[in-house]
Amino acid sequence: MSELDAPVTALKGVGEALAAKLGRLSIERVSDLLFHLPLRYQDRTRLTPMGTLRAGQEAVIEGDVTASDVVKGRRRSLLVRLRDGSGIISLRFFHFAPAQQQQLRSGVRVRAFGEARAGATGLELYHPEYQLVPLRQDGSEPPVDEHFTPIYPTTEGLHQPRLRALVGKALGMLERDPGGLPEVLPETLRQRFALPGLQQSLALLHQPPPEADMEQLDAGRHPATRRLALEEMLAHQLSLREVRLRIQQDGAPTLTDGRGLQARFLTQLPFALTGAQQRVLEEITHDLARPAPMLRLVQGDVGSGKTVVAAMAALAALESGCQAAIMAPTEILAEQHYRAFKAWLEPLGIEVAWLAGKLKGKARLDAKAAIADGRARMVVGTHALFQDDVHFQRLGLAIIDEQHRFGVHQRLALREKGEAGGLTPHQLIMTATPIPRTLAMSAYADLDVSLIDELPPGRTPVKTVVVSDERRPEVVQRIERACDEGRQAYWVCTLIEESEALQCQAAEVTSDELTAALPALSIGLVHGRMKAAEKAEVMARFKDGELDLLVATTVIEVGVDVSNASLMVIENPERLGLSQLHQLRGRVGRGSTESFCVLLYPPPLSKSSRQRLGVMRDTTDGFRIAEKDLEIRGPGEVLGTRQTGLAQMKVADLERDADLLDSVSAVATELQGNAEASSVLIRRWLGDAAGRYGQV
Ligand code: ADP
Ligand code: MG
Repeated sequence: MSELDAPVTALKGVGEALAAKLGRLSIERVSDLLFHLPLRYQDRTRLTPMGTLRAGQEAVIEGDVTASDVVKGRRRSLLVRLRDGSGIISLRFFHFAPAQQQQLRSGVRVRAFGEARAGATGLELYHPEYQLVPLRQDGSEPPVDEHFTPIYPTTEGLHQPRLRALVGKALGMLERDPGGLPEVLPETLRQRFALPGLQQSLALLHQPPPEADMEQLDAGRHPATRRLALEEMLAHQLSLREVRLRIQQDGAPTLTDGRGLQARFLTQLPFALTGAQQRVLEEITHDLARPAPMLRLVQGDVGSGKTVVAAMAALAALESGCQAAIMAPTEILAEQHYRAFKAWLEPLGIEVAWLAGKLKGKARLDAKAAIADGRARMVVGTHALFQDDVHFQRLGLAIIDEQHRFGVHQRLALREKGEAGGLTPHQLIMTATPIPRTLAMSAYADLDVSLIDELPPGRTPVKTVVVSDERRPEVVQRIERACDEGRQAYWVCTLIEESEALQCQAAEVTSDELTAALPALSIGLVHGRMKAAEKAEVMARFKDGELDLLVATTVIEVGVDVSNASLMVIENPERLGLSQLHQLRGRVGRGSTESFCVLLYPPPLSKSSRQRLGVMRDTTDGFRIAEKDLEIRGPGEVLGTRQTGLAQMKVADLERDADLLDSVSAVATELQGNAEASSVLIRRWLGDAAGRYGQV
C-alpha cells in the first residue's frame, strides 16, 4: 500500500481536529489532497511595475516608502506611499499598531501583495500582505515565488497556508512514489487525445509555473484540467457500465409470452400503433425474451404515445406469469396512468393495484397484501413503490415514466424489488426530455436507447403566439370563445420555481380573477399544495369535461392527457426553461382540432427571453428545442443532473467539458475490458461511494 492511500492523520501534524476539518472537504486519505484542486490562483511570481497596475488586479509590487501618515478620514487609517521607477501607489491599513508606522517609515523598501483598488489617493492596496526588503550590498533581491499561489476551497478554521502545506506534502510523496497513484490511461490514448500525464497534471494544477497560461487555468481549459476532467467523466461512465454488466449477469425471467393479451388489447384500442411504436416494441420484446434484465430507455417526444408501448410491454410480463409495475414521478400522473391501465387491462381480466404515498391505513395494507400475494398483477404508483415494506410476489418488469424526474438511485432501486424471488426485473425507462446523444451516453451509459421518433397521425401542430400581458383581456376572451365551442383550456401560472407557496397563491388569485371575468365558465384550480385526492378530483372533472378551464401551476407539466383541451395560456413563460415549456405545451394538441398556446409575458422582455420564446413560437420539435435549451442553459439544468449524480463531479463540468464526451465514450469502450484500470479509476474518483450507482 502506498503512503498516499493512508488516512490524512498519517501526515505529521495532522491530528483528529484537523482531520475533521479536512473531512468536511471530503479529504480522508492523503491522495484526496491531490484531487482537492484550487479554485483559482494568485500570481506572486513576478513584480509588477506600479505604473502598469490596473484597478482590480492582484499583484506583487515593490517600492520605497516616501511617506507614512495616520490620516483621519471617515475611518482613521495608516497610509503608506510607495514609489518604484514606474509610478506611485498607497498601502492603506485600517487596523494597525503604532509600531507599524515606525516600521514602514520613509526610506525603507517594501514588497506587498494585494488587490489594487481605486482609492482616495489613486490606486491603493488595502491591508496587503507585505515584507520589508533589506537593501543588500550586491543589489540582489529576495526571490519571488516559483509558482502561482493556489487558492483552495476551504472550510472554517482551515487556512490557505495550511492547506497548501498539506498538499505540498502529498505532492512530495507522489514524486517519491509515482506508483502510488498509477497512470491508468494507456500511453496510446494519451497521445491520441493529447493528454498530459496524471502526476504531471496534478503538479501543474497545484503549483503552476510562471509561464502557465493563467487564463486557461481560470477557465478550466488547461490541458491538465481537461485530462483530469476526462478521467473523472470516464470513471463515472465506467461505473455506470459496470453496474450494467453486473445487472446483466443476474438472471431475469424470460418474458416470451404476451401475444394473446397484446392482440386482445390492440383490438380494443381506437387506433393502430405508429411505425415508431411498433419498432420500439419489437426492441423491447427482443430484450424481454432474454434471460438477462432489459435496461432500456425509451425516448419519445411529448404525445408520442409512450404509455401504450408501456402497456404492451406490461402485457408480455403478465402473460408470462409475472407482475408488472409502472411508476410515475407525481401523484397526478400516476393517478392518470392508474385510470388508463384500469380501463385497458380490467376488460382483459387483470387486476390493477394503486399505491402512492398518500394511500394510508387499511387501503394501503390491502394494496400491499395484493401486491405481495400476487392478486394484483399490474401495479401503478409513485415512488412509494420503492419503499422497503413493499414486496412483490414476482415482479417481471419495472416501468419508470418520465425518468428525468428520478435519480439514478431510484431508478436502480426498483430492480431490488424483484431480487427477493431470485430474479431481477426487466427495466423500461421512459422520458419525454429529448437528450442530445452525447449527453445520453454519459448520463445513461448503462442503458440501451430506443426512440419513438414519430407522432400519431392526425395531430395538428400547436400554434404558439407570444403575447404581452397588456393584451390579457383579449386572451381571456379567446378562452371564452374556445370554451363556447366546446373546447377546454389550461391557464398555467408560473412563478419563481423555488417558492411553491407563492406559486400556489398566484394560481389562487388568477383563478379568482378568471372566475369573475368568465362567469359562464366552470373553472377548476389545481396546485401543488392541494391534497392528492383533491387534485385527482379536479383533474378527473376536467378530464370528464365538467370543467371548461383548468387553472394550474406547473404541477400539470408531465404527462397529463386531456385530448379535448385545445388552448393553453402560460403566464411568465420567460421564467421557464424551453424544455419545460415544451412539456407544458404538449398538454394541448392531443386531439385533431387545431390547438393554441399563448405565451403571456410581462413587458418588457429582455433580448434573450425574446429569442427563447421565439424558439417556442417557431418550432414544436422537441429535439431542436432541447438543443437550444442546452445551448442556453447548459446540460446540468437540462438533465436535472443534481439528481442523476453527475453534478457531484469534482473537476469535470458537463457544460464546459461537453466536447470531451465523445472521447470519454471512446476511451470507456477501450478500457472496459481492463478490470484493473477501471477499478482504480472508479475508486479514485467515486471514492468510498464507488459502486454507489450499484448499491442503492
Ligand atoms: P406520451 O408519450 O407523452 O406519454 P401518451 O402515451 O400520453 O404520450 O399518448 C398521448 C395520446 O396519444 C394519448 O391520448 C394516447 O392514447 C394517444 N395515442 C398513443 N398512441 C397513438 C396512436 N398510435 N395513434 C393515435 N393516438 C395515439
Ligand atoms: Mg407520458
